[in-house]
Amino acid sequence: MFEVCFLGTSASAPSVERGLSAALVLHRDQRFLVDCGEGTQRQLLRSGLGFRKLDKVLLTHGHLDHILGLGGLVSTFSRWESIDTLHIYGGNWALQRVQDLMHVVLRGGEVDTAVELVEIHSGPIWQGGAMTITAFPVSHRGPGCFGFCFEERTHRPFLADRAQTLGIPNGPERRQLVEGHTVTLADGRVIAPQDVLGEPIAGTKLVHVGDAGRTDNLIEVARDADALIIEATYTSRDEEMAARFGHLTARQAAELAAEANVKALFLVHLSRRYSEYETLREARAVFENTMVPRDLDMFRIMRGQVLAIDDEERQRLAQPEAMGRP
Ligand SMILES: [Zn+2]
Ligand SMILES: [Zn+2]
Repeated sequence: MFEVCFLGTSASAPSVERGLSAALVLHRDQRFLVDCGEGTQRQLLRSGLGFRKLDKVLLTHGHLDHILGLGGLVSTFSRWESIDTLHIYGGNWALQRVQDLMHVVLRGGEVDTAVELVEIHSGPIWQGGAMTITAFPVSHRGPGCFGFCFEERTHRPFLADRAQTLGIPNGPERRQLVEGHTVTLADGRVIAPQDVLGEPIAGTKLVHVGDAGRTDNLIEVARDADALIIEATYTSRDEEMAARFGHLTARQAAELAAEANVKALFLVHLSRRYSEYETLREARAVFENTMVPRDLDMFRIMRGQVLAIDDEERQRLAQPEAMGRP
């Protein structure tokens, strides 16, 4: 289960309603900021989620509308926030631009917050809490653009009733079975893990793609995702412009969602030239379960289900004690 807060959903330049690209992905007690456009730190405050535990930033690419907010964020962290190290994950080109930006912000001075730039390649980039983040290549303008697949591990539930019936005592034997080991009980009987474990239950899969110019290379990575977040800068009436600038139309994004059999589609990075309705109408004609989130909208992504999170629930998530929940 993941929660996603859309912090900025405008392309290239902000509009009155929409800020520049950023989204916060929450998984248990971990928080990941995906992109950090200008104005992100104020959006984090407005969202009620704040800066707490915000020590990991994933960059889809190095365009300024996705990274400029890092300057302000690091400046704030270096003075007021108790974050020891901010890890910024990105491709080589994106990180070079961030390094230039940090040179201006930090001016080589000693600050409390260390910035660690972590260069990523295709493959797993972070693991923990029964969840893996895998980076995959995305075609846009410039080298080293990546999308991110957040995926909980598949697990097999422990069938306590079955264990009880088989007379397996509470204790280390049960733990060994859960870990996949065969055990021999005191009375000599041999119990295999499959005797007490249920059918595998797949974890939740959330795929986040930043700016993208084509979708044919994204079908497999997005396959069967519970939610796909992807740009839809243009609509089909400006199809040629979309192709020229390495962006997608709402219809292309929706066709990807349909072909990859995703459960829910979120369209972000909208150009100011369209109404939300126009983008939504075009995408829904192809893929019904499409949403065009507004800034600060928040959703819970579960296996096969997406729910909007209301203000009350958001406040609960902002509480420190909520961070340790299972
Ligand atoms: Zn962009
Ligand atoms: Zn871009």
